[in-house]
This record gives sequence, structure tokens and C-alpha cells, in this order.
Amino acid sequence: MARYTGPVCRLCRREKTKLYLKGAKCDTMRCPIERRPTPPGDHGRDRLRQGSEYNTQLREKQKTRRIYGVLETQFVNLYDEANRQQGITGENLLRMLELRVDNIAFRAGWGASRNQARQFVRHGHVKVNGKRVTIPSYRVRQADVIELSPKAQDFIVIRHNQDTLDRRPPAWLETFDNGHSVRVLAAPVREQIDTQVREQLVVELYSK
Ligand code: SF4
Repeated sequence: MARYTGPVCRLCRREKTKLYLKGAKCDTMRCPIERRPTPPGDHGRDRLRQGSEYNTQLREKQKTRRIYGVLETQFVNLYDEANRQQGITGENLLRMLELRVDNIAFRAGWGASRNQARQFVRHGHVKVNGKRVTIPSYRVRQADVIELSPKAQDFIVIRHNQDTLDRRPPAWLETFDNGHSVRVLAAPVREQIDTQVREQLVVELYSK
């Protein structure tokens, strides 16, 4: 399955904000946004001046996509699905992104970043309702139980993440089994999603 494999800090610099794609490094002074907050490239500084409505919407869409690690085609498909659902399209979109199994592994505190959580899923270390799921975009539902495989529960990196990351699972996830399992209590509503994006701008962009 296709995914972005380039330098991730470059993505944050392009969006001129921290997207928290690298786990622990993001909270330290080694974060490039702390030292060099201009967009990448020879003309990075020039890009600071662009401020059209279209550009604002485009950047918000790119930011959302990059936070969740979704490529353009998949993101457009998700938007189309969100648009067909009842309710507010932007909220529907964020809800579907939150319910991806790689995001659940991140929210549960198993992965330091969504990228790392995604790798755990790809390598078969995450189960949904007792069955191994290796597709990061797999969407969980209400009452699903997502758990680490017995082997993964002993991984030093996961134990380290659980011990050191100060990340509490959101209210719509119930943690049990020593933090090795989570249950989806309900699909999240917007107030329960702390992702700093203005999803309405994404909707405006795609509605043109
Ligand atoms: Fe973004 Fe984290 Fe890299 Fe900083 S360290 S630029 S927040 S990915």
C-alpha cells in the first residue's frame, strides 16, 4: 500500500506548524520547526507571503492529510464518503480518520507517532476482535476491541512508549488489560478530537 516515504519534518516545515509526526523528537529543541520555521526549499521564505483563500484551504487539507498519513487519492475517497453521510461533512471526515486502526494504535499510546503505530499494524502486531489486521486504514466500529498481539506486548519500544508517553486515550476509547487492549465505546464527536485542523476549510476546498 502506498505511503509517503520522504523526510517527515519537511512536511511540518511546509505547513509551518508542528504536525507531531516523529514522536518524542517533536517535543524537544531538535524539532526543526523550533530552529527553522520557514517552508523548505530555496524559495521557502517567499512562501510565507502567500495568503489567498485557495491557498489557506489547500494548506489545511494538506495538513489534515499529513497528520493522519493519508495519500491524496485515499483522502479524496474518504471525503466523498463523508459527503454522502448524514451530518456535517468535515466532522464525518475527521471521525473516519480517527477510526482508522493505525490511529487507534496511536491513541492507545502504543506508538509514539502515527507512523510507528502504522508499522505495528503492518507487521501484524495489532488484532481487532481477536483477528490480526494488517491494513492501517481498516476502520473500526463501535464496540470493537483492538489489542496488541502477545508478542508485541513484550516489545521494549511499546513498553517504553506506554511508560513514557504522557498520552491518555480519549474518552471514546476504554483501556483495559494493562493498557494492551482498547474498546471503542462510540465513534468520536468533534469535541473529542483534539486534532488542530479547521476541517471546514477542507470541505470548502473540495466543494469548489
Ligand atoms: Fe514535525 Fe516532529 Fe519533525 Fe518537529 S520533530 S518538524 S513536530 S515531525
